[in-house]
Amino acid sequence: MAKLYYEKDADPALIQGRKVAVLGYGSQGHAHALNLAESGVDVRVGLRAGSPSAAKAEEAGLRVLPTAEACAEADLVMMLLPDPRQKEVFEADVAPHLREGDALFFAHGFNVRFGQITPPAGVDVAMVAPKGPGHLVRRTYVEGGGVPALVAVAQDATGKAHALALSYAHGIGATRAGVLETTFAEETETDLFGEQVVLCGGLTALVQAGYETLVDAGYQPESAYFECLHELKLIVDLMYEQGISGMRYSISDTAEYGDLTRGPRVIDDRVRGTMREILEEIRSGRFAEEWIAENEAGRPRFEALRRAGREHPIERIGSELRAMMPFISAGRQRLEDVSGG
Ligand code: NDP
Ligand code: MG
Ligand code: MG
Repeated sequence: MAKLYYEKDADPALIQGRKVAVLGYGSQGHAHALNLAESGVDVRVGLRAGSPSAAKAEEAGLRVLPTAEACAEADLVMMLLPDPRQKEVFEADVAPHLREGDALFFAHGFNVRFGQITPPAGVDVAMVAPKGPGHLVRRTYVEGGGVPALVAVAQDATGKAHALALSYAHGIGATRAGVLETTFAEETETDLFGEQVVLCGGLTALVQAGYETLVDAGYQPESAYFECLHELKLIVDLMYEQGISGMRYSISDTAEYGDLTRGPRVIDDRVRGTMREILEEIRSGRFAEEWIAENEAGRPRFEALRRAGREHPIERIGSELRAMMPFISAGRQRLEDVSGG
């Protein structure tokens, strides 16, 4: 059985005794900084000169410093910048201020796992990775709950890195929901696999292919949209609350029989083979190399694919139909406001 930690397993005093610099004030950054501050932690937010995020952090009552100054003051630095930007910021502004006994924290293992950032000896290196977007990390904390998180230690210089990571997880509310022990490699590889194969890549391709199949066969795009995209939420909510069996209990027997007999034909042995190939690209570092090179080249392929995705017919029909159901997007602006982008 995996090791899980809860409130009683963490010592809040450890993180309350540190000077924490949260670098970045985006999705995760705003949530960590605000939750830690409200948990009695001494927090400063580190941002680049002229950062559009600075005003938001200051309005929220946080102290904002240029990245290097925040790191110079702090004895624990949490890297909450976009992953492809972390290496250059680490080299310029973080590494020069890391002293023996300091701690360097991450919310995702990418840069350590794929050798982009190699922290100096003498520094604790740990991860506290919430398993949810930043706006949920903030909202659930305010409501008295939390988002589950993973913790891992890549380098234990002080012998206390693990306890410090649990204390940090407590400060952002994660121990209220459960904190799972993992490694940088497991977190990074499973996170990339999940988002590529199931949560984002697999799901969006499945929805688009189902939509296209119906429209190509002459069905109304509106029907195809409701059937292949809109209804997903109901199914996902049921799975989230009660698992796959609970979801199947709620659907009709006809739907369940179709699910059981047709699902494995869609996700067949060929698709499973492709999943294993994609996992291998992740583990071998080939995906990381590709993504790093894409960023270095100014992201031409990424931007072209992004544009093509936005131009898919399902987006136009979807925005027309959702405009008639304003209640669906009602909470959205508010979430964007707090997540800082
Ligand atoms: P965001 O993209 O939301 O971070 C944006 C922040 O980084 C802004 O404050 C922005 O400031 C700053 N920033 C952007 N570019 C630079 C730069 N070149 N130099 C300095 N600052 C910059 O990041 P996320 O919160 O999505 O991700 C942060 C970390 O958390 C990553 O490691 C990610 O993998 C991890 N994570 C993210 C999750 C999520 O839900 N998004 C979930 C779990 C983990 P400015 O205003 O100056 O642009
Ligand atoms: Mg991810
Ligand atoms: Mg149906």
